[in-house]
Amino acid sequence: MNVLTFDIEEWYLESVKTGRKEKYEEFDRYLEAILNKLDERSIQATFFCVGEMGRLFPEVVRKIQGRGHEIGCHSNIHTWLDKMQPDECREDTRIAVDSLEQCIGKKVKSYRAPAFSITSKNPWAFEILAENGIEMDASVFPAVRDFGGFPEFNSTTPVIVSYKGINIKEFPVCPINWWGRQIVYSGGGYFRFFPKVYINKKLKKSEYVMMYFHISDLSGYKEQFMSKITYEEYYKESGTLFNRMKRYFKDNFAFGNTFNKFQSIMSGVRFSNLEQVDKEINWKKSINIQ
Ligand SMILES: [Zn+2]
Repeated sequence: MNVLTFDIEEWYLESVKTGRKEKYEEFDRYLEAILNKLDERSIQATFFCVGEMGRLFPEVVRKIQGRGHEIGCHSNIHTWLDKMQPDECREDTRIAVDSLEQCIGKKVKSYRAPAFSITSKNPWAFEILAENGIEMDASVFPAVRDFGGFPEFNSTTPVIVSYKGINIKEFPVCPINWWGRQIVYSGGGYFRFFPKVYINKKLKKSEYVMMYFHISDLSGYKEQFMSKITYEEYYKESGTLFNRMKRYFKDNFAFGNTFNKFQSIMSGVRFSNLEQVDKEINWKKSINIQ
């Protein structure tokens, strides 16, 4: 069972960060190429969109929906959940879900937090998702990562999360053991790093894989080197030269042929979205989060 997901925020982030409207066309072009590839293979994916996309770029969200894909929620303005207090998160989620539902005229049932920011420190987020009608979540990264990460989470396959009487179907990402390290190859930097032969082999052998992409992962879009102020505002940690260089390197590492690699993998492996996979799973496994 291979799940294909995209997080959609580029148009909105570009509009608030730099206002370079010419970049929208580039994002449009990559989106079209992705949608064409998925059409060719009759693959339906889940696209998690930020709420502001529903208000500022409704045509992008509707286009994705019109091509048969599931629209999920990716917060309102891409604020990481672990940087918010519960009340802020509640408001953010309410606005985001409402904007997307108004945009597509349909209930939004799936959610992914920016930067996988549901961790052991903010399990209350599950309660907020349930209050907003979210039934399926894909925000858990059950390993250590630079930001966020939920290494204490006890499952790397779909599982029902119970928290204070609510239940949410969780689709975590799926780390593998690589030279003694828990890493995730199905998105982000390691997807760019590993050759496609390796990724294809892993995909074919695995029972469950959660693939996750941003348009910028595939387009070769270069992140700019951040000023101290911008870095600290966004990452909420000290913007030392070392921290900023590390982030710049990780964000821009090994972009070369990522879109070709993506296309080749789509050609050889079957993928589905959360709505489809939900129907195939026998939801017996559950874990209690305190
Ligand atoms: Zn994102």
